[in-house]
Amino acid sequence: MGDEMVKEEALQIIGMFQVLPKLVVFDLDYTLWPFYCECLSKREMPSLYPHAKGILYALKDKGIDIAIASRSPTVDIAKTFLDKLNIKSMFIAQEIFSSWTHKTDHFQRIHSRTGVPFDSMLFFDDEDRNIQAVSKMGVTSILVEDGVNLEALREGLSRFSQNWNASEKNKQK
Ligand SMILES: [Mg+2]
Repeated sequence: MGDEMVKEEALQIIGMFQVLPKLVVFDLDYTLWPFYCECLSKREMPSLYPHAKGILYALKDKGIDIAIASRSPTVDIAKTFLDKLNIKSMFIAQEIFSSWTHKTDHFQRIHSRTGVPFDSMLFFDDEDRNIQAVSKMGVTSILVEDGVNLEALREGLSRFSQNWNASEKNKQK
């Protein structure tokens, strides 16, 4: 499936939901692309998971902002690759630094940079410990098995609206 077809399908999936996140945050290694960028040279030409680009474009089209939270120790390689893939300017925040915490400090920074509340964010990552830590902050967090794809997008948006509706009900009590 080409990027355009994935984007069309992603737009349809997004269109099925009444409540949507304001910001979708992606990990890099094994979420947007199938490698650890610290193991590659800056001179290489990277590629994304097959559905990644179409999903990013669909989110932007729907007015949903996107950001990066990565613990990669090689920020220069990560940013070079984002540039080579022509997607660097799409992200309103790019928090790329190694850290002892499981991305909670990345999300604090994304929050102060964007002003988006944690419960209006959706997060995709391939590591369970990050998912555990970040979901405790109130962010809907989805574990991806084989990179981000249309199925993960559908699951993420569906879990996001469930969480949103549950917290709205609590507010009414
Ligand atoms: Mg990862």
